[in-house]
Order: sequence, then structure tokens, then C-alpha cells
Amino acid sequence: MNKGREFAELISITRKFLEQERDKGIKEFMQHGEKKKAGSGALDDLARSIKDCQNCKLGRTRTNLVFGAGNPRAELMFVGEGPGFDEDRLGIPFVGKAGQLLTKIIESIDLTREEVYISNIVKCHPMRDPTHPEMRGNDRPPTQDEVAQCLPILFKQIGIIEPKIICTLGSPATRAVLNLSEGIGKLRGKFYDFYPPYGKFGEPIKVIPTYHPAYLLRDPTRKKEVWEDMKKIKKAMTSISPH
Ligand code: URA
Repeated sequence: MNKGREFAELISITRKFLEQERDKGIKEFMQHGEKKKAGSGALDDLARSIKDCQNCKLGRTRTNLVFGAGNPRAELMFVGEGPGFDEDRLGIPFVGKAGQLLTKIIESIDLTREEVYISNIVKCHPMRDPTHPEMRGNDRPPTQDEVAQCLPILFKQIGIIEPKIICTLGSPATRAVLNLSEGIGKLRGKFYDFYPPYGKFGEPIKVIPTYHPAYLLRDPTRKKEVWEDMKKIKKAMTSISPH
């Protein structure tokens, strides 16, 4: 089986598992009314519950688990691929060069990092050579298994926050959230319906993929498309009714 197919299958297994969990145990899933008051407490509980996670091998080499940062009631959420060197050191997502560009992208639609929520599909730093955690530029994309192990945490975060819009950054984040196999060039700039397996049932969240800021650092000519995608987000945020 080719890697893309295998990946899609893993994601679909994870999704099915979560849907079964949802159907079995209503208790764990927060109902809408409870959500707005419980947001930050529920996120803190979730963060505590995974602080010693060793579900995949990234747990052995991390300095810090990078859970997520921002407003627990955010209407807009950004989802990246996984922590890099700087994020691993600080335990905060998107604080390196790509993160500084993400901050500018957020500010381009008159929002701040504190008003949105930022997280990743995996919470620990994937390294090419894990025997050299002190080395910069040692990053790699997460494997299918690492994503499959970690994705339920992101889905729980989404279930708690219930954002109006999620902006996925780059191909791995987009594929993982939307369970689609096309590349980011084809998927970006359009809204897709995402039915989160946790949180409020039956109502889709709008997901708009765009290029990852690290890609923009390598190819700044793509910035124009990202600004266009941000303008679409800004417009949609005023037209989608609050959850
Ligand atoms: N790239 C990501 O995808 N996530 C981060 O947190 C930092 C860089």
C-alpha cells in the first residue's frame, strides 16, 4: 500500500474509533451549554491528562509537550504540523521563525495570538536524529503512526473550544483534520465542513487550509495566496453565527 493510502486509512480508523467512543460514552463529551464556561478548565484538565504521554516514541525525546496556546473560547483556531526546536524548548507552539510569520498573518486580519487558539496535529517535536536534540534544523514531519496516536488530543481540544473556523497550515495538518489526500495547493483557500468527533454534535466547523508559514519562508511568492485566504476567513467570521 502506498504511504498516502496507508495514512488515509490510519486517519479513518482513528476517526471511526472516536465516533464509536462518542456514541458509547456521552458523559465524556461536553454539551454545548457547559462549554463556554468550562473552556479553559476543560483544556487544563486535558493538558494535565496527557502531560506524561508516551503513546509514541516522540514522548521519549521531547523537552516539553507543546499542548497549544491562546484563547480557550477562540472563534478561530490554527492547526500546524508539529513543534520544532524552539517550540520544544519553550513548550509553546509557533514561536520560531515560522511562528513569527504566523503572528503577522494573524495580525493581518486584526486579531492577536491571544485571541485565537494555536495547536498542532502532534504535540511533541519530531526529529530526524533524536540522539541530537540540541541540534537545530533536525526537524521532520510526523509519521502516520505519530499522527494517529496524537490526533484524538487535537479533536478533543476542538471539541472544547468549538471554534467557528479552523485554519489548517500545510498538507499534513490539512490531511489529518479533513481526512483528504490531495495536496495543499489543491485544497487551500476553500472552506470544508468538519464534523468534530467531540463537542457539539451535528454541526460542522468550517475548515480552510492554507500554506504553512515555514513554506512561505522558503517561497515568499506564495504569501499573496495566504493573504487572500486570510481575507476569506475575516469575512466568514462575521457571517457565521456564534456556536
Ligand atoms: N511548525 C509547526 O507546524 N508547528 C509549530 O508549532 C512550529 C512550527
